[in-house]
Order: sequence, then structure tokens, then C-alpha cells
Amino acid sequence: MKRKRLLTGLLALATALSCTPTYDVVVVGGGAGGSCAAIEAARDGAKTLVVEQTPWLGGMLTAAGVSAIDGNYRLRGGLFGEFADSLAGRYGGYETLKSGWVSNILFNPAVGNEVLQNMAREAGVSLRFQTGLQALEQEPSGWMLTLSDGSRVKARVLIDGTELGDVAALSGAQELGDRVSAQDFTYVAIVKEYDHDVCIEKPQDYDRENYRHCCDTWSPEMMLSYGRLPDGHIMLNWPQSGNDYFAEYLDMTPAQRDSVVQKAKLRTLGYIYYLQQELGYKRLGIADDVYPTADGLPFFPYYREHGRTRHHDGGGSPGALCPRLIHPGRGCGRLSHRPPSHAESPPGRTIPPLVWEDPFFQRAPGCPYTGEGAGPSGGR
Ligand SMILES: Cc1cc2nc3c(=O)[nH]c(=O)nc-3n(C[C@H](O)[C@H](O)[C@H](O)COP(=O)(O)OP(=O)(O)OC[C@H]3O[C@@H](n4cnc5c(N)ncnc54)[C@H](O)[C@@H]3O)c2cc1C
Repeated sequence: MKRKRLLTGLLALATALSCTPTYDVVVVGGGAGGSCAAIEAARDGAKTLVVEQTPWLGGMLTAAGVSAIDGNYRLRGGLFGEFADSLAGRYGGYETLKSGWVSNILFNPAVGNEVLQNMAREAGVSLRFQTGLQALEQEPSGWMLTLSDGSRVKARVLIDGTELGDVAALSGAQELGDRVSAQDFTYVAIVKEYDHDVCIEKPQDYDRENYRHCCDTWSPEMMLSYGRLPDGHIMLNWPQSGNDYFAEYLDMTPAQRDSVVQKAKLRTLGYIYYLQQELGYKRLGIADDVYPTADGLPFFPYYREHGRTRHHDGGGSPGALCPRLIHPGRGCGRLSHRPPSHAESPPGRTIPPLVWEDPFFQRAPGCPYTGEGAGPSGGR
């Protein structure tokens, strides 16, 4: 009897396991890096899945509101070229994309998400939105992932597209080394001009001192035209006494991250309040037609190259953390010129030499990254 029950149990387990969908490649995190890794994999014939916690593709580029691409304007190769061409097609040409002075390619984040989703679907990538990664087990032939809705999927190759390296951390990859919160992060807001006053309540902990110098170098008009999008919306992501906020985000628990995110949101709301009350832009308010979020703000904050680790050769290719686990943006890429404004990085943390390896910005061999943002501050 006992034997029979055991047999039945084993059979049930075998059936459950055989029903687990298996992919050649699973990408956790559908930012620009993750989406492009998935599109390339699918175009190469791999059965590919993207698991993304928000309802959008694009990460920083769209879901966090940084829809102003800096760099490689004349080197429109690879997937970046396809993405940019598609934007130009929708807006009526490349000149239209030069609507703000921080960049030569600006766009509404919702449009960027649409373009990336089209590219992914056309390549045959399966997409699972509003789903995170709960647990990860290494198996001889790859990885078993338990997702936030309780379902499981198998991956022959797993790509960590989270930028913060959260999947790699969950995997226990030894090679992670130092993770570096090198710079401020910003809760970007996409605002627009209404035909009536849209003044907000004074946000909690509002301190006008945080914003008093926002127009010391540039006039208010220049500040607002910095991130003007082709449809007239404005990206608020202003480095000079604007909405930057610094915190050592990387090594925080989810609860600590939530708390910091709330503070960063308040900093941005304070900035909008300042624009309305002190600079007189009473008709400027958070756009109600971009993000389907309760407060109209992006899905998450813009963190700048937070996932730096010491560069290493994890088995042949930069970004390979351990067998069958790859982080396309980790230990690779360009380091920005911007130090954190309230630097509290532990002493001794250094940024390693970097190699550009982001599939989004494929460059011609031997051609250095030029960072040709249009604005005097370069891209940020
Ligand atoms: C226009 C622009 C300008 C930039 N300029 C600068 C600059 O001047 N200086 C600088 O230092 N950096 C800059 N950056 C770089 C930026 O900070 C990041 O390094 C880069 O955008 C990371 O891209 P990514 O695709 O790797 O990750 P992200 O864009 O962060 O995407 C990660 C994705 O993973 C998802 N995700 C996270 N965790 C999970 C999970 N557990 N389960 C499922 N999904 C998850 C997120 O929702 C997100 O969609 C810029 C970026 C942009 C877009």
C-alpha cells in the first residue's frame, strides 16, 4: 500500500516536472539590456521568455521615465538603430526627436515601451508582465525558476536583466564581488502643461532649500526645455538642485528600498511644488496620460549604473557570472562622469575599468563610445 502511494506520488511529481515550461533562454528583467538580449536570442532561434515585474518593456528607458537617449546618435547600429528608426518613423523624422537639449533622441516613454514590445513580439519572445522572481534553483541542465505567481519555468540559460543584479544575488553567484551604488538616483516625473491650475498640496518634509539653486546656471525656461519630449510633455530629471536623491540602494532589503523610494518621490513632488509655487508654473503637473500608476509617476526610480562590480572573466565573456547565468550590463559599460551629490560611498570602493558590452548599443569595431549627448552636461 505504502509502495503504491509512493509510486503515485512519484508519478505526480514526474508529470508536474514534465509540464514545467522549458525555455532555452529566460531573461528576468525586461529593461533595454534584457529586452535586447531576449530579442537577439529569439532571432537566433532560441525559445525565449522575458519575466518583467512591471507591465512595460524598457526599464530605465521607459518604465522609469528616462526617455532621452544620450549617445551614439550618428552610430545607429544594431537594435538601438532599429529602435531609433522606429521612433523617428512614428514622430515624423529624426529632427522631431530633438525636442529637448539633453539629447538628440527624446520620446514619450509609453511610445518607447510600445516599440520595444513590438520588436520583442515580432522576434517571437514570450512576455510575462507584472511577474517577479521568487526563487531560483540551479540544476545540471540550467535553472528552475519559481515566479511570483507561484508558477515555475525552466531555463537552459538565465539572463539577469535586473540592472541591480538581484537575480545574480539570489543565485548565490560567488563572483559578484563588490556591488557599487555609485551615484544619485532620481524619481523622474513626466509632466505636462494643463489649461488650468493643477497645484499640488505641499508634500511632506518639503524643504525649499533643496530646490533654491535649481536655476542658478540655467533659466527656468532652459531647465524645462532640457527634457522636453516631442509631444510637448516634459521629463523632469534635473541635476542642479532638482530631483536627484542619494541612497545606498543596492544592499537594502525590499522594505528599505520601498522607504527610500517614497523619500525620492517626495523629493520629486517637492520639486514640482517648488516649480508651481515659487517659479509660477501652476499649470504644470504630472501627466495623466503616460503611466497607469495611482500617482501618475513612473513604475520605479531611475538608478544610474548601480550594478557595478569588479570586472572579471567569468568563463570567457564579460558579464558571465557563473555557468549559464549572464548579466549583460554587469561589469560592463560606460561609467558616467557624475559623482553622487551627497556622497556617502564607503571608502575603498572603486569602479573597475569598463568594457562596453551592452547589446542595445552595438558599435562599430574599434570605435570608442563617444557619449555625444546634445547638452553641455552630456547625458545623465
Ligand atoms: C536615457 C538614459 C540615460 C542614461 N544616462 C546615464 C548616465 O548619465 N549615467 C549613468 O551612470 N547611467 C546612465 N544610464 C544608465 C542606467 O543607469 C542603467 O545602467 C541602465 O539604464 C540599465 O539598463 P538595463 O536594461 O540593464 O536595466 P533597467 O533599465 O534597470 O531594467 C531592469 C528591468 O528589470 C526589471 N526587474 C528588476 N527586478 C526584477 C525582478 N526581480 N523580476 C522581474 N523584473 C525585474 C525592472 O522592472 C526593469 O524593467 C542611463 C540610462 C538611460 C536609459
